[in-house]
Amino acid sequence: MNMVILLGAPGSGKGTIAGRLAETNANLKHVSSGDLLRGAVAKGTPAGVEAKGFMERGQLVPDGLIAQMIKDVIAETQGDVTMLLDGFPRNVAQAEMLEATGAPIRSVVLVDVPDEIIQDRIAGRRTCPKCKAGYHVTALPPKVAGVCDKCGAELVVRKDDNPDTVKDRLVVYHRETEPLIAFYEAKGLLRKIDGNKGPVKNAEAFLAAM
Ligand code: ADP
Repeated sequence: MNMVILLGAPGSGKGTIAGRLAETNANLKHVSSGDLLRGAVAKGTPAGVEAKGFMERGQLVPDGLIAQMIKDVIAETQGDVTMLLDGFPRNVAQAEMLEATGAPIRSVVLVDVPDEIIQDRIAGRRTCPKCKAGYHVTALPPKVAGVCDKCGAELVVRKDDNPDTVKDRLVVYHRETEPLIAFYEAKGLLRKIDGNKGPVKNAEAFLAAM
């Protein structure tokens, strides 16, 4: 097992890229910290109960809480698998926790998208609450409006995708997560793609860079 970390702002398309690639490559596994957390919230586990308020406010959940979830996934992932780690680490403390697991990092790919575009992307984002597939009303619409192509469930707007919370999430990204660019650059692991070329080309560029 090894891993590729996806770095990028909320709404930069990390989840769409990782989801697409994992669907078509049997040895790639998409691990989304946000999906793990939303799953825990939906189930009402102790971690989910603790995380819920932070997530609704667009703040980071406590480092130890999400780090434990990721460690559990690492422990259960064996064999010839590359984990596409989407949403973790999100600050330097988490990056150090990840390093302490000893799991090998193959590369870190920054999906680069300017903030102005992010706001619009998140405004149009629709999510499947059942299978977690992501859509956008114009850039990546489902075949039938409001319905998931993959599982037929009714699409929703995530609670934290409202414009005010998005602004807060971008502030958190610049303050907490952006320092990871220099952190991984110093280790010679960083690569960068232009995340503004549409879902298909973004996924191709990512695969070539990782
Ligand atoms: P996005 O990438 O669009 O912000 P995510 O699904 O990755 O969405 O994250 C949603 C929320 O889950 C975050 O705003 C945060 O509250 C929480 N979260 C996800 N990953 C982490 C993490 N590594 N550390 C702390 N909080 C996290």
